[in-house]
Amino acid sequence: MPDLETDVRYIKGIGEARAKALAKLGISTLRDLVMNFPRTYEDRTQLKRIDELIAGDECCVMASVTGTPVLQHISKGRDMVRVRVSDGTGSMNITYFNQSYVRDRLIPGKTYVFYGRVGGRIGLPEMVNPVFEEETGRGATRTIVPVYRLTAGISQNMMSRAVAAGLAACGDLMPDSLPEDVRKKYSLSIARYAYEKIHFPGSAEDIEIARKRLIFEEFFVLSCALMTLREKRVANTGHPMKWDDMDEFFDALPFTPTGAQMRCINEALDDMERSVPMSRLIQGDVGSGKTMVAAACCYYAVMAGYQCAVMAPTEILAEQHANTLAAMLAPHDITVALLTGGMKAAQRRNLLTRLKSGEIDLVVGTHALISESVEYKNLGLVVADEQHRFGVEQRAALSRKGDAPHVLVMSATPIPRTLALIVYGDLDVSIIDELPPGRQKVDTFAVGEDMRQRIYAFIRKQVGEGRQVFIVCPEVEENEEAANDLKSVKEYAKELSESVFPDLKVALVHGKMKSADKEKTMAAFAAGEADILVATTVIEVGVDVPNATLMVVENADRFGLSQLHQLRGRVGRGKHKSYCILFNGSAGETAAQRLKAMCDTNDGFKIAEEDLRLRGPGDFFGNRQSGLPRMRIASFATDINLLRDAQSAAKDVLRADPELTERRNAGLKWSVDNIIEKNADGIN
Ligand code: ADP
Ligand code: MG
Repeated sequence: MPDLETDVRYIKGIGEARAKALAKLGISTLRDLVMNFPRTYEDRTQLKRIDELIAGDECCVMASVTGTPVLQHISKGRDMVRVRVSDGTGSMNITYFNQSYVRDRLIPGKTYVFYGRVGGRIGLPEMVNPVFEEETGRGATRTIVPVYRLTAGISQNMMSRAVAAGLAACGDLMPDSLPEDVRKKYSLSIARYAYEKIHFPGSAEDIEIARKRLIFEEFFVLSCALMTLREKRVANTGHPMKWDDMDEFFDALPFTPTGAQMRCINEALDDMERSVPMSRLIQGDVGSGKTMVAAACCYYAVMAGYQCAVMAPTEILAEQHANTLAAMLAPHDITVALLTGGMKAAQRRNLLTRLKSGEIDLVVGTHALISESVEYKNLGLVVADEQHRFGVEQRAALSRKGDAPHVLVMSATPIPRTLALIVYGDLDVSIIDELPPGRQKVDTFAVGEDMRQRIYAFIRKQVGEGRQVFIVCPEVEENEEAANDLKSVKEYAKELSESVFPDLKVALVHGKMKSADKEKTMAAFAAGEADILVATTVIEVGVDVPNATLMVVENADRFGLSQLHQLRGRVGRGKHKSYCILFNGSAGETAAQRLKAMCDTNDGFKIAEEDLRLRGPGDFFGNRQSGLPRMRIASFATDINLLRDAQSAAKDVLRADPELTERRNAGLKWSVDNIIEKNADGIN
């Protein structure tokens, strides 16, 4: 008896050679075959009369052969069969190239269905190499035909026959990950029906029913796996912390925390009380006050007797963080230190010694903080910027050192709620969805080339008032075309400084610069040594320049909305009114719509939702997507609504049966274990 693991060679017609070819497509078992969903479909359901055919139609014609098919040799190795057919409304010429066997298969007087693309002209239509079968057949014509990904040595027909054989052999054995009640609640078809119809649908509706079930199932299993992973985080290896009095910290702040900040802090502190290491992401728009949330967590950890490490993506940012944190924590007798690459050897040695002895409570630096050479007395909390992708590997590295600290990751990239669970894998997410009071909106304008001179005048005006300006150009990338971009950003900066603003100080940073040079330039700009900073998006993860009040983005249409939002967050950080100008280099409707969304709102989440709607979710995943299992049929871009349902179903099921031990969840458990096992390292 064949089962799902049976080799494809079990199928008649598949021998060594074809099995090898199929292996190239990732198909080696019957399961793989059935799971090999069509890439698309060819709709061959339309049947037309010959007198209504128009060149370009792809349709079926039911007609009888009116003359004897004629075989002609065209040249060496090439031949053609010509035949005429008629359906009573008209006649059509059909030609087959290099299919001489057709001559004996098409019998004069008999009726066939032909499917193909119509050529010729009205009154004298023709088809070349149409598919045909007897009028009773519904195999290749008058149906919807699956179109599969192919490789050399495998034809569509062969694939479809193999899949049909695979289905017949073990379609009933396909694992069903949907508990019955979930299937009913969301009106999803049974598994067998879905597998049958996804390959061999009788109608467009069949495809829809099958797809809905399979997509839902794929999202559902992934959601269950991610949720399960979160629960499974190494229990009892963390540092349960206890400290009751946070008032002293809050009382000393120069402001009152927002409700959202308080909620996030409480969620994090609750985590840190447990012996399971925290893995929490704090997501909040630029300016929402994440630093204070981090400071509160550090305060708590230090008061409970632990050390903290705060990682920043660059050295200048580390320095800024060190200053801000010291200001908030030093009044409480907490020792904050900064570890940089530029430290003298003796200084560094001294710092490492004080870290090891526990004299330093909180150290700020780049990812070097978790490297082998840095030893702590008792590291209890790591705060990391999202850029570090502080994932499984880093946590493992820390565990190897004997620490399993709580981890708090900070992100300023708003992710639509639906995607957060997927994008952040096994991290718990807290959202700061409220800005501190009195924050002024950055006025944003989308403009065309015709406004350039006026914008230049505006730049001059801002600088004249003592303010600073960012001008951002699209990123310099690692390819040929981008070499031109690089040239253009350099040339552009040169032109600005020589011709447009010869009297102003213009600085330039781009991605191809050494990071030390970049940092130097940015630091100089932050210190007020330049009026205008021309930059590629490297400034996205930028330093705080409260005196910068104008962000100009060239070719803004080429950026993702979330990216633009990040960029805009670079201004409006001080007390001065700030502006963002978006040059739209495209005439397209979508570009205009997207940039309008930027002008309409300053709310990062609304913008993220809009970006998701207009461009799909690609931008939100970045390099994180690589950690996710490959989706076979579901798409984060087009199936968002099903993702939403699948997630809420997953929550319900896991709430009722967290370990998935109940019998009705057996199929689900199998699929979840399978996904976790195969992606153990990948998922965050
Ligand atoms: P983020 O890191 O989220 O972009 P920051 O932590 O840098 O934001 O905070 C931005 C500014 O807002 C800082 O100057 C900070 O002191 C201030 N701030 C933070 N929380 C509040 C609050 N609750 N009320 C008023 N100002 C706040
Ligand atoms: Mg910040």
